[in-house]
Amino acid sequence: MVDEALHDVVILGAGPAGLAAAIYTTRSRLDTVVLDAQGGGGQLAIIDRIENYPGFDKAVTGMELFEAMRRQAEGFGVQVGFDQAQKLEADDASVTVIGDAGRYRARALIVATGARHRELCIPSEERLKGRGVSYCATCDGNFFAKKPVAVIGGGDTAVKEAIYLSRIVEKVYLVHRRDRLRAEALLQERIRERPNVEFCFDSVVDEIEGTDAVSGVRLKNTKTGELRRIAVEGVFVFVGILPNAEFLSGHVDLDPLGFVRTDPRMRTRHPRIFAAGDVRADSVRQIGAAVGDGITAAVTIQEMLDTETPPRRCGPECAI
Ligand SMILES: Cc1cc2nc3c(=O)[nH]c(=O)nc-3n(C[C@H](O)[C@H](O)[C@H](O)COP(=O)(O)OP(=O)(O)OC[C@H]3O[C@@H](n4cnc5c(N)ncnc54)[C@H](O)[C@@H]3O)c2cc1C
Repeated sequence: MVDEALHDVVILGAGPAGLAAAIYTTRSRLDTVVLDAQGGGGQLAIIDRIENYPGFDKAVTGMELFEAMRRQAEGFGVQVGFDQAQKLEADDASVTVIGDAGRYRARALIVATGARHRELCIPSEERLKGRGVSYCATCDGNFFAKKPVAVIGGGDTAVKEAIYLSRIVEKVYLVHRRDRLRAEALLQERIRERPNVEFCFDSVVDEIEGTDAVSGVRLKNTKTGELRRIAVEGVFVFVGILPNAEFLSGHVDLDPLGFVRTDPRMRTRHPRIFAAGDVRADSVRQIGAAVGDGITAAVTIQEMLDTETPPRRCGPECAI
């Protein structure tokens, strides 16, 4: 598809950051195109339980929150198109997104493409992906009902997912490279109450064992170098995230991990490219923060485009 029109805004990504931005730009009557590689929802699609997003006095699932955001956005005319950005062309006046299905040109671009999971990067992980190695407890947890599993990581996501899994599986080994968890205090309290969670601190995964399916994990103690084997049938990896920002290369500044650097108004080095949400360097990677970033980007763009719109012609032939 060749979209010849010059839109006001193209938003890449229909997760919380992109949808929040779209609600604001469409309400400001900016001609907005929203594109998502997977149709929308982003990481919300795999969250089992959200209880820290303001406005809900009971926990909601990620899908419930996404559906509510999507319905609200559609109410203002937002339509999410299916396409994955592969490349950009940008000059002083506009940015063109080149996707798998088309080209989209706009006076401003909001990159809200979020992030994806990091991997352990050991050969056995690659070999046993989908055969016991997983990155999503909500998606795959049930396959391990009443079986032992290992959860790798010590941050909020790892601890949340370990709590979730502990309700389904026989036993969770929580493997963390440091001597204490990084997760927020409330999550730490909750996981310590789970009777079937064993902590393996100061430990990294040396090898995931198994031929056709996971049969165990070999752990290496980071202080002593000692090796220990635990028998598990599933390995859930939550060791951080990487930005979906490869297609931006050359147009914006990135931090050493590839996250997009912005100023506090979500401006990047290029005056027409903005970034919001998890893809942004310095983001705290929470839904509320992503929503705030999306809104900030939208308002900044609205102000920028307002100053650029040519003033209405005035003369005797005009009504006002
Ligand atoms: C298991 C888990 C549990 C979590 N629990 C919580 C929680 O309890 N509370 C909380 O506040 N946060 C939680 N988070 C974090 C939260 O989900 C993220 O901070 C939030 O989703 C970030 O929103 P985003 O819009 O920036 O990006 P994302 O949600 O990642 O959405 C990005 C979107 O961009 C699309 N996209 C990517 N690349 C392209 C491309 N090239 N072209 C077009 N589209 C593209 C993707 O398909 C995706 O839909 C959790 C995350 C995970 C993984």
